[in-house]
Amino acid sequence: MHCDEEKVIYMDNNATTKVAPEVVDAMMPFLTECYGNPSSMHNFGGQVGEAVETARGKVAALLGAEPSEITFTSCGTESDSTAILAALQAFPEKRHIVTTRVEHPAVKNLCENLGRLTGHHYRVTRLQVESDGTLDLQKYEEALVDDTAIVSVMWANNETGVIFPVEQMAAMAKKQDILFHTDAVQAVGKIPISLSDLDINFLSLSGHKLHAPKGVGVLYVKRGTPFVPFLAGGHQEGGRRGGTENVASIVGLGAACDLAGRMMDEENSKVRRLRDRLEEGLLSSVPNAMLNGHKTDRLPNTTNISFEFVEGEAILLHMNLHNICASSGSACTSGSLEPSHVLRAMGVPFTAAHGSIRFSLSTYNTEAEVDFVLEKMPPIIAELRELSPFWKAE
Ligand code: PLP
Repeated sequence: MHCDEEKVIYMDNNATTKVAPEVVDAMMPFLTECYGNPSSMHNFGGQVGEAVETARGKVAALLGAEPSEITFTSCGTESDSTAILAALQAFPEKRHIVTTRVEHPAVKNLCENLGRLTGHHYRVTRLQVESDGTLDLQKYEEALVDDTAIVSVMWANNETGVIFPVEQMAAMAKKQDILFHTDAVQAVGKIPISLSDLDINFLSLSGHKLHAPKGVGVLYVKRGTPFVPFLAGGHQEGGRRGGTENVASIVGLGAACDLAGRMMDEENSKVRRLRDRLEEGLLSSVPNAMLNGHKTDRLPNTTNISFEFVEGEAILLHMNLHNICASSGSACTSGSLEPSHVLRAMGVPFTAAHGSIRFSLSTYNTEAEVDFVLEKMPPIIAELRELSPFWKAE
């Protein structure tokens, strides 16, 4: 199979990222000659085990954590589930979970399922967000009660890029002896993180959001935090997660973390400049276009823009004709045309939520690509609005 990468303008990096060439190079030996099992006693496997430990050190360095606090998993979703279920099992007498209305389905659906589990009587408080996607910390504090087992709040939102003050929120939970988990899948590699002095007990990340491959994730567990494995099995990962490690991808993730640590500042200013150029260009050239999410408390690579009175899916199809890749805020994957739960929670009007597009950039984007998108978008929106009964009624 061949995918013509050259032809594509890829602005969907919150969905997944290009595997960095340096990451591919680091992985290759572990897909070919270095195939030993990292747990084997012989040197052939032992060398591979050492490569896993080197990668663990690199992940820990990016997070400001200890290598012993890093557990490799299969994805961000597994890390999220493991953290929340570990806290509930550690404190069986506590029945309450605090989360938000804008979490990724990995946390949202787990919490909803737990709330519905008969016989367990879990209660879930899902914090409302403000119209710019931020949280009211007073309401958060009020939600923390005696039997709260865990708070699970994302570090950065995948749809809007809005950043939550998780450092402060974790400290507030700690004061009440409540464990704190953050889904940092969209934050790691995009903003600096230093966990050693923070009260965050669990953090989830996913390789494919930071130029490593799909199918590898990490759960950070702060030293001293009670823990129960989700996948029981062999003694891999210090007994924290059964299953032979996905060595090549773990090595790739180590290389990606190394790269992110060295390049983050430089890449962030480049990506932010491109994102701002795109955002300002779209908002000024397309009438009835509006930004969803806080203007500054936001990831440098993400912009979520609503084009009122048109359908996100239709916009994406037209963009696709020009090989421009982005995402829409409607839940097309579910087969319904419900606008996203994130935009609904922010109170974005229906006519705007339906026409929202998320552009998420990376260091591989160029100014020429941004200018191409700026040239193509206004006529696409104008053409679709001509067909829209809602636009004509305006
Ligand atoms: N959490 C957030 C915020 C995400 O954006 C994603 C992926 O889109 C996930 C969790 C799930 O990660 P994974 O695809 O590795 O399971």
